[in-house]
Amino acid sequence: MEKGARLITGCRVENLLIKDGAVTEVHARKGLTAASFQADLVVLAAGGFGTPVILENSGIACDRTLFVDPVLCVAGIKKNFGQDKQLLMPFFSARDGYMLSPYMYYLSFFFNKDWRYPMKDIVSVMIKLADESGGYTDAKGIHKGLTQPDEALLLRAVEDCYAVLEGLGISRKDAFLGTVNAGHPGGCLPLTRETAATLHDSRLPDNLYVADGSLLPKSLGMPPILTIMALALKVATKIEEA
Ligand SMILES: Cc1cc2nc3c(=O)[nH]c(=O)nc-3n(C[C@H](O)[C@H](O)[C@H](O)COP(=O)(O)OP(=O)(O)OC[C@H]3O[C@@H](n4cnc5c(N)ncnc54)[C@H](O)[C@@H]3O)c2cc1C
Repeated sequence: MEKGARLITGCRVENLLIKDGAVTEVHARKGLTAASFQADLVVLAAGGFGTPVILENSGIACDRTLFVDPVLCVAGIKKNFGQDKQLLMPFFSARDGYMLSPYMYYLSFFFNKDWRYPMKDIVSVMIKLADESGGYTDAKGIHKGLTQPDEALLLRAVEDCYAVLEGLGISRKDAFLGTVNAGHPGGCLPLTRETAATLHDSRLPDNLYVADGSLLPKSLGMPPILTIMALALKVATKIEEA
């Protein structure tokens, strides 16, 4: 913006107009009003759920390789443990296909009836799972489930959490599960060996780039923000070079 860019907020991009193999306009909606912006270069960064929909609306089919890094917390009760006053994810333990970390899960605390205890008494261990790629997102919604191997891996991770809780004197019969949700969506325009160097998928017009979690080739099963930021920076460099 210091160099003259204009930031337009509260605007939902719907599709891109592609003419003669190049993006010429970005079509959006601002409230009830349609808006269109002329463009000679477009970088889509609407995230793992948003970017594929914009591309599909623009006639560019993405892969059905959505992953979401399912998150599940396993919790127990220990009077006045005070995890609610502690840092979220102060450390983690990397396992094969998932990671575990202490995490007080507000989503489950507020919306899961099994979590109706004082927050100060809850001990919660979070699982972040590297799920198989296989879902997709379109104008109708998000289509993603857990595969049988995902479920088997999740059960193994839950067993690990029980062991951690047992170490704190909480028996597995008193432990309870949180709500499974999607942590890190991405993967519908995955980088391949061929596109790793250019960061530009051949389905895209030359003046269109993607710079978000959609580029990740597979689920990391780990927090991905730094990786996505590094990729976005690299995309910017590639654009400058082009
Ligand atoms: C509760 C929570 C906690 C998390 N904590 C961590 C963490 O600690 N560390 C970590 O590494 N990751 C964390 N993540 C994951 C992380 O936030 C995401 O993986 C990351 O932000 C994805 O980056 P992205 O650029 O792909 O998409 P996003 O960051 O989702 O950016 C996409 C942007 O595009 C906008 N958008 C979408 N569609 C449109 C449209 N049609 N028109 C205009 N704008 C649009 C969205 O509003 C959004 O602002 C967390 C996620 C959640 C939900």
